[in-house]
Amino acid sequence: MRLYEYEGKEIFTRAGIPVPQGALVRTANEAWGEATRLDKQMVVKAQILGGGRGLAGGIKVAETAEQAGKIAQKLLTTKLKESHVDCLLVEEKLDIAREVYMSITVDRSRGGIVAMVSAEGGVAIEEVAKRNPNKIFSFLINPLYGLRGYEAINLVRQIGLGGEHLTTSARILSRLYQAFISCDARLIEVNPLVITSEGEMVAADARVEIDDNSLFKHPELQERHLQRIDNVWDREAVSGGVNYVDLEGNIAVMANGAGLAMALLDMVKDGGGSPACFLETGGGLSKQRMKNGVRLLLKKAKADPRIKVILVMARMMISPPDDVAEGLMEAIREVEVNTPVVAVMRGRKPYEQRAKELLKDSGVPIYSDLQEGIRQSIKLAKRED
Ligand code: GDP
Ligand code: MN
Repeated sequence: MRLYEYEGKEIFTRAGIPVPQGALVRTANEAWGEATRLDKQMVVKAQILGGGRGLAGGIKVAETAEQAGKIAQKLLTTKLKESHVDCLLVEEKLDIAREVYMSITVDRSRGGIVAMVSAEGGVAIEEVAKRNPNKIFSFLINPLYGLRGYEAINLVRQIGLGGEHLTTSARILSRLYQAFISCDARLIEVNPLVITSEGEMVAADARVEIDDNSLFKHPELQERHLQRIDNVWDREAVSGGVNYVDLEGNIAVMANGAGLAMALLDMVKDGGGSPACFLETGGGLSKQRMKNGVRLLLKKAKADPRIKVILVMARMMISPPDDVAEGLMEAIREVEVNTPVVAVMRGRKPYEQRAKELLKDSGVPIYSDLQEGIRQSIKLAKRED
């Protein structure tokens, strides 16, 4: 989950990292008000997810409150990099003497969290990496100790910071690391970290990405994450704990386990069918996730006449058959739709038998043989056409 600049800066403030004075506004009038309060040169910054706003025209300097209001009006009513701009940061304009780069991120190839710094702030770090990889310095942090003071100092020393800037920037880097850990981020980037002409260090920009797998620990972020998913099916999938991808065909396909689901898609294709989607619930099925998955597909079928049949495969090696069967039935009871459901229940013999028995009055044909279930689905998909 990527956060907006203003949300990143809220995290920075809590972590004791200096950010420019200013406030978030949602209307031109509020922008005018905040500008009046600041009473100095300002920057008005469009809040969109995705960098490069500066180049795209999303960052404007204003000399007066009237000007700030006009700029806000314009930014709030034009699209920027394909996104609507819902809010803006109105901030004091920094008098920039120097811009540097700092980040904390997970480096998979090195198997840990790294701190990165570069003297080339204000430019996309990918550009620096391409042109001048030797201008980026990094340090692999030992997670048992965290980023220790002298390690931070040794790192920032390499980009030519000295004196008070050395200790201040090292302290900022350590705080970034603490913030990174406490909000379960996968990236925290300050680009640029500005050194003002008065010698202050201020985080002029903030990019924070939270590890989605940790969102259950941050209910408030999780809620925002859900609200920000535009597509209703994607939102339902995320809130139901399943993975969903839309495809072009007419057979909605679901399985427990990504590998299994992909193999199933191939088999449907090979058999002459055409999958309408990929839905995967994770290997060990709970009743709730079974229900969530089937319910999503039933609702989708109701909304989308293109879908002619729903093929559900449950592999019950560890998934209890009672959960699987009850989840399936509860979903069918909840969503009324005529689209036929075909189920393949495979796994331990006693599990297969139990699932079949529980589902014998459900009206859902249950197959043990996968090929047979697929053939039946394809037949139904064609018949309905
Ligand atoms: P991004 O383009 O989305 O990464 O947005 P940033 O917040 O990083 O801003 C891009 C550039 O705009 C910075 O590198 C600065 O050069 C400039 N900028 C942003 N804020 C200020 C400011 O307060 N004062 C000045 N002089 N320039 C700024
Ligand atoms: Mn930036």
